[in-house]
Amino acid sequence: MTEQVDRERRTMPDPELHEVASGVFAYVQPDGSWMLNNTGFLLAGEAGHLLVDTTSTEARNRALLSRIREVAGDDPPRALVNTHHHGDHTYGNWLLPARTPIFGHVHCREDVLEAGLVAAQVFTGPDYGHQEVRPPDTTFDSRMTLYLGERRVDLIHVGPAHTRSDVLVWLPEERVVFCGDLVFNGGQPFLLEGSVASFPRALRAMRDLDAKVLVPGHGPVCSGDDVARVLDDMADYVAFVERLGRDGHAAGRTPLEAARAAELGRFASWQEGERLVGNLYRAYHELAGNPVGSKIPLVAAIEDMVALHGGPIPCFA
Ligand SMILES: [Zn+2]
Repeated sequence: MTEQVDRERRTMPDPELHEVASGVFAYVQPDGSWMLNNTGFLLAGEAGHLLVDTTSTEARNRALLSRIREVAGDDPPRALVNTHHHGDHTYGNWLLPARTPIFGHVHCREDVLEAGLVAAQVFTGPDYGHQEVRPPDTTFDSRMTLYLGERRVDLIHVGPAHTRSDVLVWLPEERVVFCGDLVFNGGQPFLLEGSVASFPRALRAMRDLDAKVLVPGHGPVCSGDDVARVLDDMADYVAFVERLGRDGHAAGRTPLEAARAAELGRFASWQEGERLVGNLYRAYHELAGNPVGSKIPLVAAIEDMVALHGGPIPCFA
């Protein structure tokens, strides 16, 4: 990406609010690139409202909460769910009242605490404002169900895929799924902290839901036939990474060499192409026989992502 293009993209369009089912909202932040994630919320009458994920900077989090107040009223959310530990989905947790429970997978709590504010040190472009680390305080292992009035909300752990703490937020009555960063609609998936080997299992779990509406972690909302299309896209990309990793590993190439030599085909137009080398670090880690979901040092992978990008990775949050 040239410097000229980077400058032109620095001001992003305003976030968009989409009512994807009656009383169920997706808060979409264009253009879905680094740290510009989606969140959502659902109204449940006198039971209040539930928030799915927060966002990255203090200003963006305050704008999110203010927009929700316009729709849901002045009471704070009854609860928050984090789909995974990444900072663009959790850095606003601290802005909720201390009494508001935050639900997340057990590894989400561990990884929020371990990562701290590291994402703000990797993506230095934005003004993050005031930041505090606040992890989920109500954790679960495989799944749990929340009831808010008449609304049923299933939290289903499907990681490791994007991270080891990936959770689907599934509304079975409305057939809406908030899938966090298991889906980047328009961007390359990111598997460095997840798994190449077990990503297909997470995709199968999403397919089996047969959702009418899929709210991705980044990029536009999908509905109808687009849901299967975007899941097929993710599956094709992960299969591509798996093949590239297997060939590169066998040929003794470094992840960066394998990424530079890759024939990207249709994936070349997807955003955040630098993720490919991070994804290959995860593929190589698994090819070396390490357990699925085990941790790898992130510094070398991130340095190689910067190298593949050709300089500091821009972030417009
Ligand atoms: Zn993420």
